[in-house]
Amino acid sequence: MISVLMPTYNRANLAFMQGQGAWLFTEDKRRFLDFGAGIATSSIGHNHPHLTNTIAEQAKLVLHVSNLYRIPQAEKLAQRLVEISFADSVFFCNSGAEANEGIIKGIRRAQFQNGHPERTDIICFKNAFHGRTLATLTATGNPKYLEGFEPRLPGIKHIPVGDLEALHKAVDEHTAGFLIEPIQGESGINVVPEVFLRELRKICDEKNLYLGFDEIQCGMGRTGKMFAYQWTDVEPDIMSLAKGIAGGVPMGAFLAKESIAKHLTPGTHGSTFGGNPLACAAGNAVLDILLSPNFLDQVVQTGDYLRNELQTLIAQYPTVFEEVKGMGLMLGLKGKLPPAEIQNAALHQDLLTVAAGNNVLRIIPPLIITEEECHEGANRLAKAAKQLQNIMEQN
Ligand SMILES: *Cc1c(COP(=O)(O)O)cnc(C)c1O
Repeated sequence: MISVLMPTYNRANLAFMQGQGAWLFTEDKRRFLDFGAGIATSSIGHNHPHLTNTIAEQAKLVLHVSNLYRIPQAEKLAQRLVEISFADSVFFCNSGAEANEGIIKGIRRAQFQNGHPERTDIICFKNAFHGRTLATLTATGNPKYLEGFEPRLPGIKHIPVGDLEALHKAVDEHTAGFLIEPIQGESGINVVPEVFLRELRKICDEKNLYLGFDEIQCGMGRTGKMFAYQWTDVEPDIMSLAKGIAGGVPMGAFLAKESIAKHLTPGTHGSTFGGNPLACAAGNAVLDILLSPNFLDQVVQTGDYLRNELQTLIAQYPTVFEEVKGMGLMLGLKGKLPPAEIQNAALHQDLLTVAAGNNVLRIIPPLIITEEECHEGANRLAKAAKQLQNIMEQN
């Protein structure tokens, strides 16, 4: 018989009833170290008192009012996001895919209003991940995810990251803009070279196209800057956020320059839940923590420490591990085995990680994790590697 939850996931047979900081507990009090943060989402860890108190207080006041009225919590969060980014204006929604839909709509609408209705095409990139709705699935472009869901949204093309020749060939009179992850997450923590981002910016400036960054995974402090693009001298025109933005409360957002945002007038876009008082209160609480003195410096420092620990693991277990990728606390450990096998061996050591594409195991802990906890996690990964090595030697 079919499970009551649709069979879309291969779930581990574990249920976590409680969390604290970088730890999750099962009902029988088995204690897991969380190097996955619910896929880079529990950004300030589990049961963070500032976040849980804020949510409880807001819940007692009002959860939801709809966007027919002003929402002070949303105004405050938008104001703060504008102050710390390239953007002039923010739209709140409820997930990453929805935020990327907003980017696609925003870019198309702005080109239309600029007198270029023929500019509808968004150029995306091989190995991208932008979500599971029909438009963002097309933008993702992975044939495995698209099988059985055709036809695709028209007007989306893919070129390889870093391929300048393909880039110049792909741009034509129908091009409206680009959508790219500055660090590709699901496909294995691939940092896009800054020179390539600069070239995208240059083409957009020359031809009046729009540059969209998907920072759903790499944004909100994950790399040790608030946004990953801030490690470069390239700014987007429009950017999506989700995952860590509200520490686990479902929320997404897209941020844009006025040149795009001014075209999203009443009736062009909307969301019932988007930016409601509860989600925005949570978003503000997360931002309080991310903006507290030295917090992001600490993410850089902890990330460096963890990266060193992972380098040591590679030296100790060269038949299992190959390379460390990524920045800050968005790290990938490239293995010589399928990442699901390494993830599973780590799970047996009570360590949670997230498999990604191209043989990469994602190490994306809550940003509040300590060096001691990173060391503990590396020890658990070493035990997992040792077991895998033993199995390989027996075969
Ligand atoms: C997770 C993710 C998405 C999709 O977010 P959902 O909230 O699952 O819709 C899109 N882009 C990137 C880069 C992501 O990591």
